[in-house]
Amino acid sequence: MTSLNKTLCLCGSQQNYVDCCEPFHLAIQHPQTPELLMRSRYSAYALKNAKYIYQTYTTDKQPENPVKEIKEFADGCRFIKLTIIDSGHDDSQGFVEFKAHYFYDNLYCELHEQSKFIKEKNQWKYSDGVILPVADIKIGRNDDCPCGSAKKYKKCHSL
Ligand SMILES: [Zn+2]
Ligand SMILES: [Zn+2]
Repeated sequence: MTSLNKTLCLCGSQQNYVDCCEPFHLAIQHPQTPELLMRSRYSAYALKNAKYIYQTYTTDKQPENPVKEIKEFADGCRFIKLTIIDSGHDDSQGFVEFKAHYFYDNLYCELHEQSKFIKEKNQWKYSDGVILPVADIKIGRNDDCPCGSAKKYKKCHSL
């Protein structure tokens, strides 16, 4: 088995996974800011760690977001990158505006969201978000891959 420890974290922080989101995924540490939680939720999606996504919803949002549904969504996506646009917080609430880029089947999707975070029992949790509209882009097999690799889509992120 290959270890993820020395690989760059999928959240795009340019740090190794072991120094970035892994301690959060293993519940050794808890993210100290909404932005860190957001990053760790994104990398959990990319790693198909549905349980972590579920656990980092606020208690009142967990029933609407069963692990099974989170897993089905994560399994259907190939995650490309996360861009944090803005974030901020006070003692009890915070927000993160981000763009998540992923493929769903052969659709290139950009999720642009402004998320709300709430502190519950001294831990940041994701409550919900407002999704801002962006167009889904259909990619042809001979088009350049939108991930920025400069390869053709069929040689890169295609199914
Ligand atoms: Zn990370
Ligand atoms: Zn690609």
